[in-house]
Amino acid sequence: MINKPLSGMGNSKPQGATVLGPGDFPLGSPESRVAARLRLQSVGVGGELPSDCICFPEKEQPFFCEPYEEEIAAKVKCPLHGDRFQQPAYVMYVSKWRREKEPARRQRLSPQHQKAWNASFPPELWPAEEEMEGGKLFLRLKDGTRLLAYELEVRASAATSSIVSTLGRAAGSRAGLENPVL
Ligand SMILES: [Zn+2]
Repeated sequence: MINKPLSGMGNSKPQGATVLGPGDFPLGSPESRVAARLRLQSVGVGGELPSDCICFPEKEQPFFCEPYEEEIAAKVKCPLHGDRFQQPAYVMYVSKWRREKEPARRQRLSPQHQKAWNASFPPELWPAEEEMEGGKLFLRLKDGTRLLAYELEVRASAATSSIVSTLGRAAGSRAGLENPVL
């Protein structure tokens, strides 16, 4: 495994040499492509025609097997309508068996539902494989890109609003100077 420190940002090397900065993603690499794609999705892809609606149909709300799926799906907004499904979606423990049947079940839903699903989970990248590492949950997409899902999961899991606000307060107090007085 290559794990270079990100120390080349200052770029004090003489110009002209074709040296790749260690912090740069190679152009066209999976990382850069996925990053670009995610950015596009969160902004909403251009073209404001009605056919660009990527909302889930009202009667075919998405079914999420994992909290991070809802988080990811919610980040993708419809260019016409914004939020694409009712939140919070109901997420419960879903067995592996049930999860593996989901893609087939979705195939039987309306084209609009599939379009909505694929907008956040392009079939060339999803479903991802889950990998636990050091207490963190990573998602390995089909092209090899790894996303960190752990933080998403924490934020999206049910009944965490109090935890989130606690975390927010903790972060807020930490954002100030190391002040022992509350
Ligand atoms: Zn829409």
